[in-house]
Amino acid sequence: MGTNWEELKTRLAEARAVEEAMILFEWDNETLAPAGAMELTAKTMERLSGIYFRMMTDPRMGELFESCREEALTPEQQAAVREGKKKREELAGIPREEYEAYSGLTARASAVWAKARSMKDFDLFAPVLEEILSYKKRFASYRAKEGQALYDVMLDEFEEGFSMEKLDRFFHQLKAEIVPLIKRIREEGRHCPADFLEGDYSEEKQEKLGRFLAQYVGFDFERGVMAVSAHPFTTALHNRDVRLTTHYDRWVDHSIFSVIHESGHGIYEQGIGDSLTGTPAGEGASMGMHESQSRFFENMIGRNRAFWEPVYPEVQKLFPDQLGNVSLEEFYRAINRAEPGPIRIDADELTYSLHIMIRYELEKGLVAGDIGVADLPGLWNEKYEEYLGVRPKDVSEGVLQDIHWSQGSMGYFPSYALGSAFAAQIYAHMAEEMDMDGLLRAGRLDMIREYLREHIHRFGKMKTSRELLKETTGKEFDPGFYIDYLKEKFCRIYGLDGE
Ligand code: ZN
Repeated sequence: MGTNWEELKTRLAEARAVEEAMILFEWDNETLAPAGAMELTAKTMERLSGIYFRMMTDPRMGELFESCREEALTPEQQAAVREGKKKREELAGIPREEYEAYSGLTARASAVWAKARSMKDFDLFAPVLEEILSYKKRFASYRAKEGQALYDVMLDEFEEGFSMEKLDRFFHQLKAEIVPLIKRIREEGRHCPADFLEGDYSEEKQEKLGRFLAQYVGFDFERGVMAVSAHPFTTALHNRDVRLTTHYDRWVDHSIFSVIHESGHGIYEQGIGDSLTGTPAGEGASMGMHESQSRFFENMIGRNRAFWEPVYPEVQKLFPDQLGNVSLEEFYRAINRAEPGPIRIDADELTYSLHIMIRYELEKGLVAGDIGVADLPGLWNEKYEEYLGVRPKDVSEGVLQDIHWSQGSMGYFPSYALGSAFAAQIYAHMAEEMDMDGLLRAGRLDMIREYLREHIHRFGKMKTSRELLKETTGKEFDPGFYIDYLKEKFCRIYGLDGE
């Protein structure tokens, strides 16, 4: 007779096997699956998620989570128990019929959203959004602690410990500093031409460059692959099977930075410790921490001048017609151009967080009931005008641009902005301990990757994002690092005086 832990471990591994099958189907759907397969695959997915639900909510599983507490477990095992229990409670707290009805609703909602977006008609999507919102509020109420606001419950799902109170302060600081800076750049900044980044950049060569860059920053192709999908993403079965996607268009910097970004996510997944991978604790610490690693590589590293010093000549060799006469300085300024636009996923490093702030303010109002679904398109445009100085020309480049709400992801957006801020704090600390520019010039990306692996990646979910940040940088979360970083960098690039 084995211990309770051994039985639990087996059951968790079985549930994980089902989860991995679902992950693989999702990956396949986005990359290789024939369009005709969609309907039947959706049925398979539904069955798999039903099996997963039953396995995780099995009463025996509940007993085991309690009884194995009395056994002597390693810290890794304790983390697996804690995270597994959390996953179980998230499922078990919702009545089965409601869970199934909601799954059906979100499965349909993405198609409704896509149609509404292509027809530029918000009214098509509004009733579905209304329904999703009411489910999300109900689900949050099942988990809410006494007196806890529903939006705080939703936020907690993605980023533990970052409530509205904390986020209000964070976004308030950003708004106060970044909105005026964007205005100054528009009025006084010198121009950063970037037209040479658009042109006949062949897919074949972009792919070659993408693979080179992924490997150069430290993504391990022995334990990972790269494919093409409409929207780039990263997924992982475990630390030996990590999958990136990218996409190609006429702007070569789009594929360059999406590859470096996804490589950051991939390096995180590949760095998770062997004793954690495949367990409920074998994932990134939080959405924000994951995003911090992708943005660290994309922006702090990939948009750094020192990074390109050894690499840019190789890029020029690959694209002699397009970049042969473009200097490193011109290239560097072009990849760092800051131009406010209406679309979040096309946003530059400086304006990105303001796109997130707009979504945060609207979600907060929606969940609290201060804003009605019907008010969204108008408020959306007003906020874009106020913070970014642009007005979306219709709802497809306005309130309907993101898929998240149709998937029921409310409270997810802030983790994108937090990730950028975590990354800046980590970078500032690393720069005190090592000569970052020197390492980048020498191509020693391995030293940077090892530092992150040692302090962050290997722990998986053993620590929260706040703990990792505190232990890595010696300080609590402080958005000041992010704001200082943006101000210094963009004043320098646009030739503006600091304060
Ligand atoms: Zn990302």
